[in-house]
Amino acid sequence: MSQPAFSFEMFPPKSADGAEKVLDAARTLAELGPQFISVTYGAGGSSKDRTLGVVRALSEEDAAPAAGHITCAGASRAEVDGVLRDYWAAGVRRIVALRGDPEGGMGAQYSPHEEGYPYASDLIAGAKKIADFDISVGCYPETHPDARGLQDELETLKHKLDAGADRAITQFFFEPEIFLRYRDAAADFGIDKPIVPGIMLQSNYQGLTKIARLCGAFVPFKVMRAYETCGEERSARDRATVEIAASICERLKREGVEAFHFYTMNRSALASALCQGLGLCKDRRAA
Ligand code: FAD
Repeated sequence: MSQPAFSFEMFPPKSADGAEKVLDAARTLAELGPQFISVTYGAGGSSKDRTLGVVRALSEEDAAPAAGHITCAGASRAEVDGVLRDYWAAGVRRIVALRGDPEGGMGAQYSPHEEGYPYASDLIAGAKKIADFDISVGCYPETHPDARGLQDELETLKHKLDAGADRAITQFFFEPEIFLRYRDAAADFGIDKPIVPGIMLQSNYQGLTKIARLCGAFVPFKVMRAYETCGEERSARDRATVEIAASICERLKREGVEAFHFYTMNRSALASALCQGLGLCKDRRAA
């Protein structure tokens, strides 16, 4: 039986100085043989140049296919189209297309830019007019905070896939059943493109609960207890992170999941340990 495919998500460096460190981590991840490595786009385009810099470098090195995230919140169509053209010109053929969060951050009231693409589905249609990108989009097994419920969530997702997206990557979750129920509901809704589970590798528990609260992801008691038992010891928290992620992935593998997307938080060592442990890849340096 073939092993599931996998992709990695990274942050761009916080300043131009940090680019080499991020690229080193990306090179380590590239050796594991991912489908692609994606680089996030700071809220409101705040990381535009740094994201483009890393994506371009990865693409030029041809270490692994690179995917550039792009958001439309707070930007005009002309600005967004400019970034899409820059990606294409740099040889980047994959994007992760998102609405993005409002200026006030996750959870704040969103209103579209007057001259912008209002929502991700509009951005996808616009991107497809510029070039034939491979497009991933976000989706939310516990529903997006702005959605009125599961029906609304699935309508938004279907709209994005019908606009030309190739697959959806989920927000992180900790209970495999949450993903499985969502996958079933999407299939019942007539969605037939891949829904890839997004698996979190954040070993800072406080950081994790902060993001989870903002995006509405449920953190079960067993996860809280696993981190509490580790105390302040970083290596123990790292081990717990890999164990929690591995247990979710093992269950999903048994349920026929064919691809995983790992939110690496730029922790290439954790992502490597997880992929090796799951038998998803061969470390080509060791081969
Ligand atoms: P959309 O699909 O546009 O929908 C969000 C909500 O808007 C829907 O639930 C619905 O309530 C409403 N809506 C959608 N379409 C319409 C319509 N036509 N009419 C009326 N209402 C509508 N954020 C970043 O800033 N940078 C990143 O790099 C980034 N990467 C991400 C990667 C993944 C895999 C995921 C899951 C999320 C990522 N995010 C990122 C976060 C994302 O930008 C936020 O979750 C954002 O709030 C929603 O983006 P979306 O593309 O899912 O929005």
